[in-house]
Amino acid sequence: MKAHVTTESLAEGILARDHRAIARAITMVENESPKGPMLIRELFGRSGRAQIIGVTGAPGVGKSTLVDCMTTEWRRRQRTVGILAIDPTSPFSGGAVLGDRIRMQSHAGDPGVYVRSMASRGHLGGLAQATNDAVVILDAAGLDVVIVETVGVGQGEVDIVRTADVSIVVMVPGAGDDVQAIKAGIMEIADIFVVNKADREGADRAVNQIEAALMLQVYGPGEWCPPVFKAEAARGTGVAELLDAVAQFGERYERNRDRLRARAEVRLRETLSRQFLVRLERHDDMRVALQEAVERIVRRDVDPYTAAAEIMERAG
Ligand code: GDP
Repeated sequence: MKAHVTTESLAEGILARDHRAIARAITMVENESPKGPMLIRELFGRSGRAQIIGVTGAPGVGKSTLVDCMTTEWRRRQRTVGILAIDPTSPFSGGAVLGDRIRMQSHAGDPGVYVRSMASRGHLGGLAQATNDAVVILDAAGLDVVIVETVGVGQGEVDIVRTADVSIVVMVPGAGDDVQAIKAGIMEIADIFVVNKADREGADRAVNQIEAALMLQVYGPGEWCPPVFKAEAARGTGVAELLDAVAQFGERYERNRDRLRARAEVRLRETLSRQFLVRLERHDDMRVALQEAVERIVRRDVDPYTAAAEIMERAG
């Protein structure tokens, strides 16, 4: 495919699940190309069928290994899978990938699995939007399950995971002390916990600690209380049970109108603010003004509110 490809023909390729068209489209949204929004416009009406699964956890807990096993299990259940591995930690490395993707080679050549790493190449905040767009692309391509794998538990990851239908937080034994530390951010977004590396000492203690932390939360009648699973991803154990829980959660909550509405609202608000910024930065003088304002804020010559008001006034 060459540069003259139209968004219509690209959209057709995606709907036909042509992996090259999908790759090209994701690169487009990743680079924040102006064609990205046009493409999403074409595809959005054809999306909304996939189950979006967020998988997050600190580096090394075994996310990639787990996602690999989950993919194998889903394939065994005749479901197609898209995987987006998000790396927000290296915004300027120009498309760095998450460590070692070689494990994903186990699905290489399977047309029912699409794997892609994404890094932020553009501006702060661009990655969440690019990820959302990439999810729409994989969803429209007809993949049954789309997994969004993110490292760590920072705000960026929380934002990304928030857009998933089901959020899985992966931990390991011995990290129990962290439960307190991450409670604020993670306890609210996790629908399912996995204590991976259950072959290690302290797995049961880790499960107990998470369950104890969950007990401090208040759940209304009929409300989902996140289950805590043990898994040994390196050997594939615990994965079938995990997928059963994902399916169960999906049946009960995924098409929950409140959840869908909240997600649509987040997406709209984010798009609005990003569109505003992107349009602003299309003008050289506004880009300069923005940078100047940053410097003035650093020097405390101006406060952020006044600076923003001035920029908005200039932009009309
Ligand atoms: P990620 O950084 O969270 O994606 O973690 P990886 O999937 O790359 O795994 C990190 C390391 O943990 C690798 O060496 C894996 O082989 C290993 N690992 C994954 N699952 C298990 C497990 O269940 N038990 C043990 N002992 N090691 C595991």
